[in-house]
Amino acid sequence: MIIAERKSMNEILDMLDGVKKLLVLGCRGCVAVCSAGGDKEVEIMASAIRLGKKLAGEPIKIEATTYIRQCDPEYIEPLKKEGKKYDAVLSMACGVGVNFIADLCPGVKVLPGVNTTFYGANLSSGEWKEMCAGCGSCVLHLTGGLCPVARCAKRLSNGPCGGSQGGRCEIHPDTPCVWHFIHERLQEQGEADRLKEIMPIRDWSPAGDAGPRRRVREDLLP
Ligand code: SF4
Ligand code: SF4
Repeated sequence: MIIAERKSMNEILDMLDGVKKLLVLGCRGCVAVCSAGGDKEVEIMASAIRLGKKLAGEPIKIEATTYIRQCDPEYIEPLKKEGKKYDAVLSMACGVGVNFIADLCPGVKVLPGVNTTFYGANLSSGEWKEMCAGCGSCVLHLTGGLCPVARCAKRLSNGPCGGSQGGRCEIHPDTPCVWHFIHERLQEQGEADRLKEIMPIRDWSPAGDAGPRRRVREDLLP
């Protein structure tokens, strides 16, 4: 899922300078699962803004609601009309939701309430780890299911680098060297010979380096 974290209240209150009528808008998708922008966080955010504005002596009217998703047009459609009632909408969705609303409702001032960070897995309550960088050209079948793009600090296609020590990464010594574990995994699976093959230089265009990505499935088009 997409992992996000709430922006600091100082940053949010700065964004809301001059805003007198605000909609705090949550999303029940990924940001709800990672406890950054679901119903509960929207309520907390609205209360914190009310308090911050009161302390600053700045009156503000706040409404709060949560959409099922902010990345599907049918759910955000009401904002085209409703959004005009507010000076701003503070979206607690990931950056996709903020962008999507901004594209669909150009008359609405949309502000980000969270920082969108990575695609991650939930290790335990309150702990998430990046597992995929959405590179558009998956090589997990060659690397024992461990991602060298998201989980190697240098994004090496052939590793480990000379800095790998005792299974730890030289860039972040508290982090495992994923290439160390790719070697171990392939050896365990009897596929160590695969490591003799040099992976070719990666084409990063599917990763977005050639500009914004878009996917069209003709069979699903209306
Ligand atoms: S190789 Fe690319 S698509 Fe596959 S897990 Fe890594 S970043 Fe994601
Ligand atoms: S030590 Fe391992 S994880 Fe760290 S940069 Fe080198 S190959 Fe990548």
